Amino acid sequence: MEVLYNECLKKYTTVKIGGYAKKVYIPENTDELINIFDSIPESERYIIGKGSNILINDDRTYENVISLREFDNSITKLDEGKYYVGASVKLQKFINYINNDGFGGIEYLYSVPGLLGGAIVMNAGRGKRSELCISDHIVDIHVYAQGTIKILKKEQCEFQYRSSIFKNKGYLILGATFKFNKMSIGDSKKLKNERLELCKSVQDNSGYNFGSVFMESDWRIMQLVKIIHPGYKKGVTFSKKTGNWIINSGEGTFNQAMSLIKTVQKMHRILGKEAILEIILWK
Ligand SMILES: Cc1cc2nc3c(=O)[nH]c(=O)nc-3n(C[C@H](O)[C@H](O)[C@H](O)COP(=O)(O)OP(=O)(O)OC[C@H]3O[C@@H](n4cnc5c(N)ncnc54)[C@H](O)[C@@H]3O)c2cc1C
Repeated sequence: MEVLYNECLKKYTTVKIGGYAKKVYIPENTDELINIFDSIPESERYIIGKGSNILINDDRTYENVISLREFDNSITKLDEGKYYVGASVKLQKFINYINNDGFGGIEYLYSVPGLLGGAIVMNAGRGKRSELCISDHIVDIHVYAQGTIKILKKEQCEFQYRSSIFKNKGYLILGATFKFNKMSIGDSKKLKNERLELCKSVQDNSGYNFGSVFMESDWRIMQLVKIIHPGYKKGVTFSKKTGNWIINSGEGTFNQAMSLIKTVQKMHRILGKEAILEIILWK
């Protein structure tokens, strides 16, 4: 297992904000992962997939971070349309694999820069109104929790919009079994291209980001906040192109991002509404 010392965590996130880790462990198989997971007390243990939904405090040094990008990159075909997928697998690799096999159903995730484990924790999906999310196709999930490997049925995982029981730090997702319907290669290719084209036209790629900041917010209040507190010339600003996104020019800090987030939450409170955070904070 690779262990890296005094690592800057910025490079482990898509938003490029974060402090240092005294040690970053990169386990290369499940045994190594479980050993290191068990050896670190929960309060000192931080887990990162592709870091595309995490805001890390840059004023802090973390003791131990476990990167899950290497420990299981395998996809195993179990039956017609049924696969076991390791938690380190990138979503694009997973989607291409099932599509090439003549199956599909999650092509709307082709634009999501996460690993399978993170996508399950967050129940990644399309916008709220579409009601489409990765858990639609899950049969069961292999987890390590309370000292044992368990297989949880989908119904045990309390999947909701951008949420699951795995947000609780005690769970480690090892992989999951999925079932998909048949889809022609032509159809899946079309859906993936449509998704990428849509993202090009509606998503702001002018800087670093972590996708949607809030899983629930009022767009009128968000507009108001953008006027009151548009952000920092050198650093983090609200996106002018994509509602509910903040953009880091590269010089942004945790405190800047938190200032925008807290303003949104305060304005919602004042106006009797609630803004629920989607991203995970490492305070
Ligand atoms: C440009 C862009 C577009 C995006 N578009 C979408 C979108 O369309 N839909 C959507 O839902 N999201 C979207 N996101 C958000 C994000 O990409 C997804 O939530 C993604 O699934 C997170 O995966 P990750 O590997 O990056 O997880 P991370 O950000 O690394 O981790 C997220 C959380 O899961 C925990 N975790 C990660 N892996 C495991 C594991 N194996 N076991 C236990 N805990 C684990 C981490 O500790 C953390 O708490 C977007 C982000 C970006 C930057």
